Amino acid sequence: MQNVDLIIVGAGPVGLYAAFYAGMRGLSVAMIESAEVAGGQPQNLYPEKLIYDVAGLPVISGINLTQNLLEQVARVPHELFLGESVQKIEKVTDGFFVSTDKEKRSAKAVLLTTGAGLLTPRKLGLEHEEQFAKSGKISYFIRSLEEFRGKRVAVLGGGDSALDWSLMLENIAEKVHLIHRRTAFRAHEITVEQVSESSVEIYVPYTLSALTETGLLLTKVKSDEKVNLSVDKILVNYGFVTNHIDLIDEIELSRNGRVKTNREQQSNIEGLYAAGDASDYIGKVPLMSVGFGEAVTAINAMTKVLTLDHAIRKGHSSSLF
Ligand SMILES: Cc1cc2nc3c(=O)[nH]c(=O)nc-3n(C[C@H](O)[C@H](O)[C@H](O)COP(=O)(O)OP(=O)(O)OC[C@H]3O[C@@H](n4cnc5c(N)ncnc54)[C@H](O)[C@@H]3O)c2cc1C
Repeated sequence: MQNVDLIIVGAGPVGLYAAFYAGMRGLSVAMIESAEVAGGQPQNLYPEKLIYDVAGLPVISGINLTQNLLEQVARVPHELFLGESVQKIEKVTDGFFVSTDKEKRSAKAVLLTTGAGLLTPRKLGLEHEEQFAKSGKISYFIRSLEEFRGKRVAVLGGGDSALDWSLMLENIAEKVHLIHRRTAFRAHEITVEQVSESSVEIYVPYTLSALTETGLLLTKVKSDEKVNLSVDKILVNYGFVTNHIDLIDEIELSRNGRVKTNREQQSNIEGLYAAGDASDYIGKVPLMSVGFGEAVTAINAMTKVLTLDHAIRKGHSSSLF
């Protein structure tokens, strides 16, 4: 069993930045990440998408943001355990025990940067789906846009992700078909407008009836009209199911299963903090710039109450390195 001041659960963008900031303030810190690679959503769900709203970075891809964050955290001592899922956290007198599928560790404080928790893509629930997914015909997120070059692609879903991907694929794929079961999309007005002006072919309101040898069989809602769509690839954007967060007894969650936090990012359990998409409060905006700020708030708050064997470094970053 190892002892550190702070265990950070989840090495997405907010966890990585939190580890850097905690290290900079002189805390000993360990990060535990269930995936085999750090970086969370930008790394895994949209590595090539461009991000424009992180302060000081006019434009950056998901994958390069992860690289920058890894470079930043490398400046401070820290441990990063990849491929370990945190399964249970127990509150004890002077801190916490954190158990994963491989190890049990202890810490004075815990910061949850688990995003939405362990995510699994929502499936279609149709025959042959697993086979199609194994062969690469069905994807639930895009690792590389190149896989779609010159292909006929069906994008399923009606939210921001489905519409964003349709637009990004427009110039890469031979043809993009967007299929949604309702007439109206649940995406930003501007994106909906861009899609309607693009070459993306829209099928609304259609449901998916079967996966066929050549692609998809669609049925128009409240009608017998069928469409046989020949495609090479199917991109499913039906969202993700989360396992959040029965990680610790008596934790208070918000209605969408995130951790309720106060103004110092502390949960209802003393010493257990949350930041980034894992945290929720009135007025929460689930963006990375907000999550980075929440991590700073949480770490400054915990340094005031933790009993540490060593001095906490104070001051601005420029005076600390
Ligand atoms: C398509 C898309 C586009 C987006 N575009 C933007 C944008 O342009 N700008 C912006 O600011 N935001 C954007 N976002 C939102 C942004 O990605 C999230 O706000 C951000 O990823 C939250 O970071 P996080 O570190 O809190 O959580 P996440 O990125 O979700 O990372 C959480 C990490 O915790 C790990 N984890 C979870 N549970 C456990 C466990 N029990 N044990 C161990 N590890 C665990 C997960 O594996 C994951 O790596 C976008 C999101 C999507 C889906």
